Amino acid sequence: MNVPGEAVAVIETRKLCKVYAPGSAAEVVALRDVDLRIGRGEFVAIMGPSGSGKSTLMNMIGCLDTPSSGSYLCDGVDVATLDAEQRAELRLQKIGFVFQGFNLLPRMSALENVAMPLGYANVPHPERMQRARAALEAVNLGERAAHRPSEMSGGQQQRVAIARALINNPAILLADEPTGALDSRTGMEILALFERLRDAGLTVILITHEADVAAHADRRFEMRDGALNEQAVHA
Ligand code: ADP
Ligand code: MG
Repeated sequence: MNVPGEAVAVIETRKLCKVYAPGSAAEVVALRDVDLRIGRGEFVAIMGPSGSGKSTLMNMIGCLDTPSSGSYLCDGVDVATLDAEQRAELRLQKIGFVFQGFNLLPRMSALENVAMPLGYANVPHPERMQRARAALEAVNLGERAAHRPSEMSGGQQQRVAIARALINNPAILLADEPTGALDSRTGMEILALFERLRDAGLTVILITHEADVAAHADRRFEMRDGALNEQAVHA
């Protein structure tokens, strides 16, 4: 439902629920009636203790998993109307992922790592390389294109991973504990990069359990036992 004059949300969930192993003795309710509405160019943080459902929510928003009930509109598309192949296509076009552990391929150069999501079949080699180079330059790593992950610092590796996440010009960047493996000064550089990307119109969702990291976001949410609540803005 679009209210006239109101921008379409990039992410909108309604009463999103996820139950693992439903009906069994091991049943876990990981998401409870999560209502979340995030617009274009917002930078939000989701906090909460271990096991509260943060990664489960990220998997739903990232179209990596499907909810048990409730709905999710990703950039206006009701994800429930898509089959697995269409969901994968939506994920590729709309969402970039960044993880705590960087997840770079060790035997490939920074440039090759960044080009990975473009696929070998879909984009001709010269265009792959040119786009990957531009993405590396956007995270100020143009001069490290030929380096392998083991030849770079943690902060540089995370910037390569961010360049890789941006290669398809996604609307949404999902980052699960992206500064968790970095020292605090390097973490601040990554957060400054997210702020720049937000200013360029990207929607950034940052999962963290550190309050000083979450403080960089425009809005903050807290998960507790599968329920999501927005934190009041301090005056
Ligand atoms: P967080 O990221 O906040 O630490 P998770 O979303 O990973 O929390 O987990 C939320 C709850 O769901 C936890 O109780 C966890 O044990 C459970 N859980 C997560 N993934 C699965 C799974 N694939 N199967 C069963 N239970 C799971
Ligand atoms: Mg997690």
